[in-house]
Amino acid sequence: RQEVYRELRKKPSTTRDGVQVDLLMNAGLAVDLPQLAESGAAGIGLFRTELQFMVASTFPRAEAQEKLYRDVLEAARGKPVTFRTIDIGGDKVLPYFKGAIQEENPALGWRAIRLTLDRPGLLRTQIRALLKASGGRELKLMLPMVTELGEIAQAREIIDREVRHLSRFAHHLPTSLKLGAMLEVPSLLFQLDELMKAVDFVSVGSNDLFQFVMAVDRGNTQLANRFDTLSAPFLRVLKQIADAGVRNHTPVTLCGELAGKPISAMALIGLGFRSISMSPASIGPVKAMLTELPLDELEAFFDDNLMAPAQGLPMRALLQAFADDR
Ligand code: PEP
Ligand code: MG
Repeated sequence: RQEVYRELRKKPSTTRDGVQVDLLMNAGLAVDLPQLAESGAAGIGLFRTELQFMVASTFPRAEAQEKLYRDVLEAARGKPVTFRTIDIGGDKVLPYFKGAIQEENPALGWRAIRLTLDRPGLLRTQIRALLKASGGRELKLMLPMVTELGEIAQAREIIDREVRHLSRFAHHLPTSLKLGAMLEVPSLLFQLDELMKAVDFVSVGSNDLFQFVMAVDRGNTQLANRFDTLSAPFLRVLKQIADAGVRNHTPVTLCGELAGKPISAMALIGLGFRSISMSPASIGPVKAMLTELPLDELEAFFDDNLMAPAQGLPMRALLQAFADDR
């Protein structure tokens, strides 16, 4: 298998009928970087910057942050990298963060963009490190757990301020800055067009989005097999997101676990996703599926089944049958 996957790296990342789909990888630490060449990923679709904070015993200094981001960009050798601002709080506790509070529902609590907007010093330091590390290159930055568009505007103000600050001191700035939002909270589903217009790109965090759409704790093993990520309602949600991206000319990607299993990656591509980000080990198996996929047939399958699954069967069973037939 490994040999097959290695051979596949040289093949174009297209469906059997020639539609390009970018397969990106998720990463978070310097040790992940060799995987970029190894897996043949087209870039890093999600760099989880909080991992550096989680393995440290105090807040990483600005210099250490800048160095990591620079190393990542060097290792990427011009392939695109999307950095996510720190997604801490909730279950990702930093023992040294004295401001942490006890919460009854941490997943719904003071975390991610909510926390960093309340502690703007943290965000400013990180953004400054990212801007400096990206001098002369494009910087792609995304915000986790966005609930309201106002949060994007607030973050943008902080970013603009840092850009002004650095240019005043004649720092080498990024050639362009693309700001994206993660779509993880269902409130955004009811303002998809506004969201698409407010950002340069959107990345679906399907782990959290599924957790919040289905009201099911993503870490609760008791519930792990009860609800299906390929159920019709969730697939319809994903289709609406992909459609809104096309309608607004806003690039949409998906970077949750869903992208890493061939059957669900197939579903995503059929629903309209043209960029997905996964763990590096999944790139080979997903690319093997991609190059065999007759996308025109899969789109016709969804036209027939998404709103009215054949014989009332579960979508997963129908998708599996589609895959087996081909
Ligand atoms: C997600 O929620 O799908 C995601 C990619 O972010 P994380 O798994 O880090 O919460
Ligand atoms: Mg998430």
